[in-house]
Amino acid sequence: MSIVIPRELRPADGRFGSGPSKVRPEQLDLLRDLGTDVLGTSHRQEPVRALVREVRSSLHDFLGAPEDYEIVLGNGGSTLFWDVATFSLIRERSVHGVCGEFSSKFAAAVAAAPFLAEPVVTRSVPGEVDPLSAVPGADTYAYAQNETSTGAMQPVRRVTGADAGALMLVDATSGAGGLPVDLREADVYYFAPQKSFASDGGLWLAAMSPAALERTATISSSDRWIPPSLNLQTAVDNSRLDQTYNTPAVATLALMVSQLRWLQAGGGLDFAVARSAESSRRLYDWVEHTSYASAFVADPAARSRVVATVDFDDAIDAALLARTLRENGVVDTEPYRALKRNQLRIGMYPSVDPDDVSALTACIEYVVQRIA
Ligand SMILES: *Cc1c(COP(=O)(O)O)cnc(C)c1O
Repeated sequence: MSIVIPRELRPADGRFGSGPSKVRPEQLDLLRDLGTDVLGTSHRQEPVRALVREVRSSLHDFLGAPEDYEIVLGNGGSTLFWDVATFSLIRERSVHGVCGEFSSKFAAAVAAAPFLAEPVVTRSVPGEVDPLSAVPGADTYAYAQNETSTGAMQPVRRVTGADAGALMLVDATSGAGGLPVDLREADVYYFAPQKSFASDGGLWLAAMSPAALERTATISSSDRWIPPSLNLQTAVDNSRLDQTYNTPAVATLALMVSQLRWLQAGGGLDFAVARSAESSRRLYDWVEHTSYASAFVADPAARSRVVATVDFDDAIDAALLARTLRENGVVDTEPYRALKRNQLRIGMYPSVDPDDVSALTACIEYVVQRIA
């Protein structure tokens, strides 16, 4: 190892990934507790169904969901949910706000569907977010609350002037649990557990409004061919029974339950949002006062509180910086590949201790003094 960061400068936990993200060591206790009587048992029986029930009811509470919203889940992660939405939620024409890699993938999935009209796609410059405008005739609007590839966030709001009954689909994969939300502003607020919920990937979860549930039922009973595993009605039916259509990863559910218990005990969504806000405040303050670093997202209001992207002067090789941090146990600060920037990307989900973010900035300074 070429550069050794003194131990006293290093964060207590060096995981700053944007997903999968830090799993708190305490979460493993529940996994161990369930290790011999719940892990490795049937997902159709009460012990695993109890986990699913807790995930659903706890999330409903944590997200402050209106009474008539339902938490629905299934296997496959957020990427799979784009296909679910393509088959089961969009009636004919959708509008997509594309501001990076993730939002562009959903738009591409819809554009390729032969049974849907060509979607209307609004593209933002990477690092920016533009609120969607109403398009007459559009029945679905889609955007990301937090674009994880660029570190830009936007508030969850209904599109002004949209047709009556148009659904608002919000990709909250990295926003849910770390950013504020009023679920009345969304019809489908969907995410996966490997970001703020500090679990493993492979599951999708969605808070669905009555309008979204009704759209799902209508499309499901229409003559559209829907692959069974992508049929949202099937997921709704199974979720209501605290089950999934096919076998879930039980450990993923358990890790998510333990994280939800911790978040709820701390004070719920306000607590979670405040943790990430404090971490990001420390990071952006440091960037502000550091001559060789700058925030990639120009508009301070759009700078994500859960995933920060920090550009470095050309004199500093950010890839070497990330590699050196990694050699010292400070991992996953590499930027999103496709962005091709001389930058670091830092995940600051609620599990991350704000003090560890402060330690990270000290580590960056230590390494930069030796590689610049
Ligand atoms: C991580 C992420 C995804 C992809 O999630 P998977 O569960 O890996 O499919 C999608 N959208 C956003 C905004 C993300 O951050």
